[in-house]
Amino acid sequence: MQKIPMKTPLVEMDGDEMTRVLWQMIKDELILPFVDLKTEYYDLGLLSRNATKDQITVDAANATRRLGVAVKCATITPNKKRMEEYPELTEMWKSPNGTIRSILDGTVFRAPILMDAIHPVVKNWKEPITIARHAYGDVYKSVDFYTTEPGTATLTFVGESGEEKSVVVQKVDGPAVWQGSHNKEKSIRSFARACFQYAIDTKQDLWFSTKDTIAKIYDGEFKKVFEEEYENYRADFERLGITYFYTLIDDAVARVIRSKGGFIWACKNYDGDVMSDMVSTAFGSLAMMTSVLVSPDGTTEYEAAHGTVTQHYYRYLKGEATSTNPTATIFAWTGALRKRGQLDDIPELAAFADKLEKAVLDTMKDGIMTKDLVGLVDEGFEAHAVTSAEFLSAVREHLEKSL
Ligand code: NAP
Ligand code: MG
Repeated sequence: MQKIPMKTPLVEMDGDEMTRVLWQMIKDELILPFVDLKTEYYDLGLLSRNATKDQITVDAANATRRLGVAVKCATITPNKKRMEEYPELTEMWKSPNGTIRSILDGTVFRAPILMDAIHPVVKNWKEPITIARHAYGDVYKSVDFYTTEPGTATLTFVGESGEEKSVVVQKVDGPAVWQGSHNKEKSIRSFARACFQYAIDTKQDLWFSTKDTIAKIYDGEFKKVFEEEYENYRADFERLGITYFYTLIDDAVARVIRSKGGFIWACKNYDGDVMSDMVSTAFGSLAMMTSVLVSPDGTTEYEAAHGTVTQHYYRYLKGEATSTNPTATIFAWTGALRKRGQLDDIPELAAFADKLEKAVLDTMKDGIMTKDLVGLVDEGFEAHAVTSAEFLSAVREHLEKSL
């Protein structure tokens, strides 16, 4: 069989631990035999980040801006424990995802991968629900303090021109807690653009929710910016027959639960933090969740939502053939290859991505899956746990048949 050609390379960001092991297995078994793979390779493994003083992460993000599409392996974000585990670390390097997100000015979209034999806890959910979380500001960049005596708090803004704006927050008669938070119009606008762009790319409706009846100016600004930006995308939405829908967060929660799924739900920072855990848990497993970072200009970086699966890696180092689920990492690759295929007008490449995803789901349909999923399948469905390597070779068999 002739390998499927590529034009523009993908930015390939390698990572750490068990997912780094899976990364190589996926490439060897499912991609390199079929695709004439072109990538610009960046090793974001912890020691390589350390050796380059994290310059490699910045280089990888800049390469993504230049080439448009990246695929990333999970990486360790060092903490105190990791500093002990890796004594050669010269610094507690920042989260690579945070660094990349700020360079690409991106929004993260998380979506579950559904399979027939595993049903979401919410039984009417038939299609994935994608959560888009605004990743800047609000309570995550707020200041707060505690006061003990009666008194008054004011909120004051001093402009660079010297002009001041002030408002009384509250007068209290005893101990109280206070908080000051903000967001930037520019960040809200980037968030809105990424959401509209991603809705168009994936041909899904976009929902957005805030509490603008209470926070009239603060959340009102989010609502207003989304409405303004929508005008730039309206024609594309109408052409594709998709809709933009704004509602209050509490109404949104009720509608999401009653829905069939199949849309993107854009959330403010805190709402997205809470709701993405709820939605992903209700859909089943972190190992079946994909994640894509989308910047306002449409640049995309695909990855799995889970981490480096450290506990499995320690067992792998002892010689155990682990049953780690490679699905989300495979779907990161298919997401990136499909996007590259669309941008470079290589339909075979996009079709290959579809076939590879189908091969994964067909393998599971046969009851062949990793340990984490066996406990989640419907009663009566016969499933048996295999190792990651066995799972990948079963996927390859399905894939070869379909090509
Ligand atoms: P994790 O790697 O997601 O793993 C947590 C647990 O979830 C695992 O121990 C495993 O449970 C289960 N799990 C996750 N993915 C799985 C898979 N593909 N197959 C089977 N089981 C899976 O999270 P963590 O242990 O909290 O973090 C480990 C490292 O990952 C940390 O250093 C963190 O910094 C990093 N991290 C990176 C990213 C990223 O790069 N995007 C995201 C999150 C965390 P059992 O052990 O019970 O089988
Ligand atoms: Mg959280």
